[in-house]
Amino acid sequence: MGLKKSDPQVYDLIQRERKRQSEVLELIASENYVSDEVLEALGSVLNNKYAEGYPGKRYYAGNEVIDDVERLAIERVKEGFELPIDWHVNVQPYSGSPMNLEVYAGLLNPGDTILALDLAHGGHLTHGSKVNFSGKQYNFVHYGVNPKTERLDYVEILKLADRTRPRLILSGFTAYPREIDFKKFHEIAEKVNAISMADISHIAGLVAAGVHQSPIPFFDVVTTTTHKTLRGPRAGIIMCKDKFATSIDKAVFPGMQGGPHENAIAGIAVAMKEARSAGFRKYAEQIVKNSRALARSLQDFGFRLVSDGTDNHLILMDLTNKNIGGKDAQNLLESAGIVLNRNMIPFDKRSPMDPSGLRLGTAAVTSRGMKEKEMSKIASWIAAVITDHSIALQVKDEVKRFAKNFPAPGL
Ligand SMILES: *Cc1c(COP(=O)(O)O)cnc(C)c1O
Repeated sequence: MGLKKSDPQVYDLIQRERKRQSEVLELIASENYVSDEVLEALGSVLNNKYAEGYPGKRYYAGNEVIDDVERLAIERVKEGFELPIDWHVNVQPYSGSPMNLEVYAGLLNPGDTILALDLAHGGHLTHGSKVNFSGKQYNFVHYGVNPKTERLDYVEILKLADRTRPRLILSGFTAYPREIDFKKFHEIAEKVNAISMADISHIAGLVAAGVHQSPIPFFDVVTTTTHKTLRGPRAGIIMCKDKFATSIDKAVFPGMQGGPHENAIAGIAVAMKEARSAGFRKYAEQIVKNSRALARSLQDFGFRLVSDGTDNHLILMDLTNKNIGGKDAQNLLESAGIVLNRNMIPFDKRSPMDPSGLRLGTAAVTSRGMKEKEMSKIASWIAAVITDHSIALQVKDEVKRFAKNFPAPGL
C-alpha cells in the first residue's frame, strides 16, 4: 500500500526531512548522504530476523541466509581496511557508543585507567565524559593538545602515560582537524605496556581510501562508526587482533546487546563494497581538498582556525574575535541554510552549551559533487551572514537555489 496512503503523517515527515536535507548546505562533520543502495539494504526484510549469536552459532532457527549476510560484511570489512590475517571483525555494534563501551567491557575491569583526549580538545563522549557511562565506570586520564600549536604533543602524551600507567591508550577523535600519527601512539602504548585502541569513527572513509594513515598495522583494537566519512548505515564495527576476539565478541553479545541489526549489517557490506571503488578514493581525496579550500577561504575572511588549518574532513573555527558565541552563530547560520554545530575549542573559556567554536565538515557537501570553487562560495556566505545578520534569509534563498545544482545521493 505504501506509507503515503497508509500513514500520510509519517510519509509527510519523511518528505519534509528529504526536502530540508536537499535544500541546505550540510556541514555537520559527522553526517553524510548514503547511496540509494545502502538505504535499500537498510529498508529490507533483513530487518525482520532475530539472529542472537554469531554466524554458525545462533540461538534461533532460520539463520542460514543471515549467516551469509554477516560473513559477507565481515569479509568486506577485512578487505576494505586491509586487515592482517590475524585480525578479527565484529560488525554487530548497534552504533558508535555501544561499540566503544563493548571494547572497554571486554578488555578492562571497572576502575581501570584509560588515557584519552580531553573532550574540549576533540575527544568523544564515550572517551570518558563525566556524564557518560565511560566516565562513570572507568578512571579516565585526559591528555590535551599543545596550547601553542593546538596539535597533539606526543612527548607530553608519553610523559602522562608514563606517570599514570593506563591499561588502555585511546586515540582517534571527534573534533581534531589534523592527521594523527598512529605510529607514535603505538610506540607510547608499547613503552608503558598498555593496550592501544584507535576510534576512527570520523576518519574511517579517509583511512579506507588511503588518504589518512591507518592505525591497523600498529594497533591492538580499532573501532569505527560506519555512517560518517565511510558513508554507510548508522552502525559500529570493532576490529581487533585475534587474541582479543573472544573477550570482545562476548562483551558485544551477550554482554551488552541482544539481536544484531542484520539490515544495518547488510548496509555495512554495501558501503564497504562502495568504499573499495576508484570513485570512493577520489571522493575521499576531494573531501580533504575541499576541507583545505574551505579552511583557506575562511582564513581569508579573517576567521581563526584551531591549529591554523586542517588535514582531514573537518575544521574547527574560533569565533572569539567575531563578537558572537557558538550557539548564536549556529542558529544564525541555520537560518541561512548552512547547517553545522557549535563546538568547544581547546582551552575554551565559555561553556559547552555556548562554546567559542564551530565545527565544519566537508564529507556531505563533497558527496553532492561540490568542489573547491563551491567551498569559497560557502565561506563567503558564512562570512557575510556573521558580519551582517540581517541578510540570513536572503542567503537561505541563494543557498537553496545553489544546492539544487548538486543533487544529493539517496534524495
Ligand atoms: C560519532 C562518534 C562515536 C559515537 O557514535 P554514535 O553512533 O553517535 O554512538 C564514537 N566515537 C567517535 C570518535 C565519534 O566521532
